[in-house]
Amino acid sequence: MQPMNDITTNPLLDVSGLPRFGAIRPEHVEPALDRLLADSRALLERALAANREYTWDNLVQVIEDMGERLNRMWSPVAHLNAVMNSEALRAAYNACLPKLTEFGTALKQDERLYRAYKAIRAGGEYPRLSQAQKKIIDNSLRDFRLGGAELDGPAKQRFLEVQQELATLYSKFDENVLDATNAWEMAITDPAELAGLPESAKERARQAAEQDGQPGWKFTLHAPSYVPFMNYADHRALRRRMYQAFVCRASELGPNAGKWDNGANIVRILKLRRESARLLGLADYAELSLKTKMAEGSAQVLEFLRDLAARSRPAALRELEELRRFAADTCGATELEAWDIPYYSEKLRQARYAFSEEDLRPYFPEPQAVGGLFEVVRRLYGLEIVPLPDADVWHPDVRFYEIRDADGQVRGRFYLDLYARAHKRGGAWMDECIVRKRSGAELQVPVAYLTCNFSAPVGDRPALFTHDEVITLFHEFGHGLHHMLTKIDYPSVAGINGVPWDAVELPSQFMENWCWERAALDMLARHYQTGEPLPDDLYGKMIAAKNFQSALQMVRQLEFALFDMRLHTDFDPDTGSVQGLLDAVRREVAAIVPPVFNRFQNNFTHVFAGSGYAAAYYSYKWAEVLSADAFSKFEENGVFDRATGRAFLENILEQGGAREPMELFVQFRGRKPTIDALLRHSGLAA
Ligand SMILES: [Zn+2]
Repeated sequence: MQPMNDITTNPLLDVSGLPRFGAIRPEHVEPALDRLLADSRALLERALAANREYTWDNLVQVIEDMGERLNRMWSPVAHLNAVMNSEALRAAYNACLPKLTEFGTALKQDERLYRAYKAIRAGGEYPRLSQAQKKIIDNSLRDFRLGGAELDGPAKQRFLEVQQELATLYSKFDENVLDATNAWEMAITDPAELAGLPESAKERARQAAEQDGQPGWKFTLHAPSYVPFMNYADHRALRRRMYQAFVCRASELGPNAGKWDNGANIVRILKLRRESARLLGLADYAELSLKTKMAEGSAQVLEFLRDLAARSRPAALRELEELRRFAADTCGATELEAWDIPYYSEKLRQARYAFSEEDLRPYFPEPQAVGGLFEVVRRLYGLEIVPLPDADVWHPDVRFYEIRDADGQVRGRFYLDLYARAHKRGGAWMDECIVRKRSGAELQVPVAYLTCNFSAPVGDRPALFTHDEVITLFHEFGHGLHHMLTKIDYPSVAGINGVPWDAVELPSQFMENWCWERAALDMLARHYQTGEPLPDDLYGKMIAAKNFQSALQMVRQLEFALFDMRLHTDFDPDTGSVQGLLDAVRREVAAIVPPVFNRFQNNFTHVFAGSGYAAAYYSYKWAEVLSADAFSKFEENGVFDRATGRAFLENILEQGGAREPMELFVQFRGRKPTIDALLRHSGLAA
């Protein structure tokens, strides 16, 4: 056996070009990572020891290159683990995770490194560095401080303990929700109790029962089972039963009361977050979270959310009243409880618009939809997208493309993996394969993975997408353009890197807008058999249904965001009641008030199963304001106006995380963002 720790025997260590997917095996993973981590540690020690005066070149660039090299090796591994999962690969992947975490943590805690960055920041070289270089140094210093680098003695020790306990609590919270979700099921043997359900939902439930060797139908709390049942099942008592099980998951109530109760975990998490913020000298956890966001502070976020609530709540109450009247007049329902709302909403939608997503599918054959997307990009930014055959890919369905600009320059390349299949993680996402970087005269072209889970072609028939799927494709492609079109030459602020969490969805949500424009749909939609464009009446119905109950959806998101932000600002976990705060938030902004046994907070994984959305749930709406307002400039100038397209390309897409998102937005839009476009697009304009 040859050792697997050099470039001749281990393809993961070969970073001379694209990943060699055909050659990568699970047994390559750990040796490659071990080798790179050992090299990185040695490199770091050498760089720290070799210099008395630190500079960009002798230290920061070394760290940048080190991180980039690690990502180059790890990116195909993480990607394969997501799209071509196997027992052996998962084992190798999981064996590596703690090593990566340990390395990353040690780097953030390294006091010598922190002192060196501070010295560079204070020295004579800093003012002469480029904007991107300065930003990298400033971001690093910020992250050192937020990681506790300024603390000493017992405070530092305590800070690290708090981080560790939080990590354990996050995974415990997540496990409780998972276990509670998996533990409950509802067996049905009387076919009369299935009335109203679509065939696909019944079939899924039948197969689920069959897999257990049981007769009849089995329903669970997983979305593909739960959602259709709540939307379509005529049997009211069963809907109530299912709703109750769902909203009581991981709580002290419901069918598994107390078994996986997250109540105490929530309080402990809130206390520890507050403690870590205070150790860093900050008022509360929201202040800590917002240090790395575009939003300036919690007061600004609270005002933003309350303003949106004030503007959308009256419409939400009207929508609810409309639903109540429809349920009473058309269906004879005198009560409208939480478990009735999706059911009658679906009936109202059908009565009013008389069309379903399925009606659109024949108009979005894959070649037309993907070709249409490329055409939209060509018109907007003057970019050509051409397929590159013969690429080394991980599955025969995967295709590989190159993006060239008007001068024939290659700007980026991407893999497109569209279809759902076994051993591939669900959902859709964009991920980085290679990041833009310049070394001397040599420019490394960025490469992206674009992954979806659409249904594959059947026989000779091309894959037919729903309109929702086309929107998903545009969304992920927007992230891809942000990554690939960057002109920033330093990986940690190139493309989506270094972009604040509440601004990173701007390019993706922005691209979705074209899926609703007639001129773009003429490129995207052709009947797969007749070749006819999307008929006007179908287009009309699609547009009319777009904002169905949009105010109700808006206030629901605002309820979550306001609850999250207040939990991390004015709430005292020592004395306050989490339920009490949620009730107060609902009184303020909600239209639908759920029953008292609702324990939504106990399965609010966004906020409690990790720190990504903690005091940051508002990010969804925040980025939507930016993307809607950016698009409104195209509405003013023409949706295919080249000058506006170029301005978006140059001011937003090319800039990555090198400058503050507000600065970039103002440069593109000529003013600060306003919420008007979002309200108008949601049908909520005054
Ligand atoms: Zn996204």
